[in-house]
Amino acid sequence: MSQSLTTQVLIIGGGPGGATTAALLARQGFDVVLLEQQAFPRYHIGESLQPSCLRILDELGIRQQVEQMGFIRKEGSIFDWGGQTWSISFQDSSELPYAFQVVRSEFDQLLLSHAASEGVAVHEEAEVKEIDFSDGRPRSARFVDATGREGRCAFEVLVDASGRTGMLATRYLRTRRFHEAFRNVALWGYWHGTDPPPEGPKGATASCSFQDGWLWAIPLSVETLSLGAVMHKSRLKALRERLSLEEIYETAVQSNALVRNMATPGERVGPLRAETDYSYAASEFSGSGYYLVGDAACFLDPLLSTGLHLATFSGLVAAASISSTLREEVDENDAASFFNASYRRAYVRMLVVVSAFYQMHAGREEYFREAQRLTAGDYSDSDLVKAFINVVSGVEDLKDAGKVSPGDLLDSMVSLYAEHHGFVREMKSGGSLSLAEIKKGMARTQVVEDVQVEFSLTPETAVNGLFVRTGSRLGLERAAL
Ligand SMILES: Cc1cc2nc3c(=O)[nH]c(=O)nc-3n(C[C@H](O)[C@H](O)[C@H](O)COP(=O)(O)OP(=O)(O)OC[C@H]3O[C@@H](n4cnc5c(N)ncnc54)[C@H](O)[C@@H]3O)c2cc1C
Repeated sequence: MSQSLTTQVLIIGGGPGGATTAALLARQGFDVVLLEQQAFPRYHIGESLQPSCLRILDELGIRQQVEQMGFIRKEGSIFDWGGQTWSISFQDSSELPYAFQVVRSEFDQLLLSHAASEGVAVHEEAEVKEIDFSDGRPRSARFVDATGREGRCAFEVLVDASGRTGMLATRYLRTRRFHEAFRNVALWGYWHGTDPPPEGPKGATASCSFQDGWLWAIPLSVETLSLGAVMHKSRLKALRERLSLEEIYETAVQSNALVRNMATPGERVGPLRAETDYSYAASEFSGSGYYLVGDAACFLDPLLSTGLHLATFSGLVAAASISSTLREEVDENDAASFFNASYRRAYVRMLVVVSAFYQMHAGREEYFREAQRLTAGDYSDSDLVKAFINVVSGVEDLKDAGKVSPGDLLDSMVSLYAEHHGFVREMKSGGSLSLAEIKKGMARTQVVEDVQVEFSLTPETAVNGLFVRTGSRLGLERAAL
């Protein structure tokens, strides 16, 4: 006999995005069903957190538990990039002084169990196969459990947190757009017996460039180092003509002195893993009766370890938006627009910084200046490092969730984004360009369409003046003008 479920909110996917949204909604007293296709704990890549996780873990009420799980404390990041080496310490930005390097199977299991303990009906090994729409909104989902038994779940609101599968955006809405510049492939493995970097903050992630791309080195425990290489798929294809994947990976590891020195005393244990990590964004992150959370909405090259920040941040904003609409405090369209703008801005902000890094030969000062221009805060020149840390660690997004004011910040993002793409450099060779001309040029690229969605917001739209109220009564609130 098939199962028939009815709920206020259905969440597809029990990763960090889905589990965060689910737990926060259940705590507000809403009925939540979560369907996850795999049995947890399950393997997942994406191991380096940013300090913004502390706020989210506090909001969820599980910081203490995470502190006790024995994960490595990440006190900063090391960059060996474009011929310069430097590190940033989160201690310099005292708001959130550290993050964690996590074994994802354990971290994700904790988040999902926590959601269940808050009252979410979690069904593991339940794969959503189909979503039914009527009157322009999703109404129910068909799923199949591990025994092959079918079920159906009717809901008021759907949260797609299915990760890079992105069920709604890829199969139904067809709104996913890839960013050509970041059509990358990652190769990685786990190493034992390695050396730590010679200097830098404790537990830091090292991000190191080499001629074909960049490498990550993430200490997961005293004995295990996660070591990955990322390169454009066209470069990998060219290398594949004469080398195996193993050889390409080994060559990459040997190509950067910092990584080579860390890896040399050790050895890789277990298989070499590979995944495409193409960056993309859906043209809409929310709409009538649905929200796209985490990677289901957008994905960004993991250079700055922003995936979990974006997944949990979007989970928080989605939970606040949905809470307010279910309580009939805020119009459904206003809440969806607010979510779309907040999450998109968080994403674009990181996209711009990552783009800047890809200009490998720009120097350290340039990255910091970039971060400053992306933050609405008024940082003096001497505070550039702090601005950079704040952007990269996600603090700025948490501040912004309090008050969304599109305007100047977006202008600055759009022009910065433009500066970092080849087509604008080509245009620039014909003379200097005004911001209006740059925007016109950007309209030709698909990435920029995404930026323009937010750009088209005006002060009359409902996004303006709404902010996230965290705490015991999570929701959206109108700021006094
Ligand atoms: C190579 C690489 C390195 C990365 N490194 C980092 C890093 O260092 N730091 C960082 O923060 N991020 C990193 N990321 C990104 C990070 O992994 C993701 O951003 C993060 O996992 C997103 O969380 P999520 O909840 O949106 O999706 P996921 O964690 O992918 O969870 C989605 C869940 O949905 C389930 N699901 C999918 N389809 C269905 C269905 N039809 N029915 C039911 N369930 C379904 C899946 O089983 C899965 O459990 C990296 C990514 C890659 C590819």
